[in-house]
Amino acid sequence: MAILKKIKESIIDEKYDWKHKRSSSWPKVRKAFLENNPFSAFCGGKESLEVHHIKPFHFDPSLELDSDNLIVLCESKKYGVNCHLFFGHLGNYKKENKNIKEDIEFWKEKFKK
Ligand SMILES: [Zn+2]
Repeated sequence: MAILKKIKESIIDEKYDWKHKRSSSWPKVRKAFLENNPFSAFCGGKESLEVHHIKPFHFDPSLELDSDNLIVLCESKKYGVNCHLFFGHLGNYKKENKNIKEDIEFWKEKFKK
């Protein structure tokens, strides 16, 4: 199942990067980050969580394990929006959103009202 997910992410979402080898520490860093941030930074959802790299891994692999470069987003579409795809990648997994933290604060305010 995991390999099918990778293939889907690679071919359909173009999200999985085959070129750069991920750090062997990533699973541990990811798990610890999720334990400290167990919900989507935008919607607060707890399903389908992804630890997102603000500076994408393929743009700067050196920031892969830097917690300042990480944010938890979900793909559960709680408000009809895939938080990871929309806020993290502006609707296209090849793109990066440099202002993601500001964007999330801005939209969170609106959803509160
Ligand atoms: Zn979410």
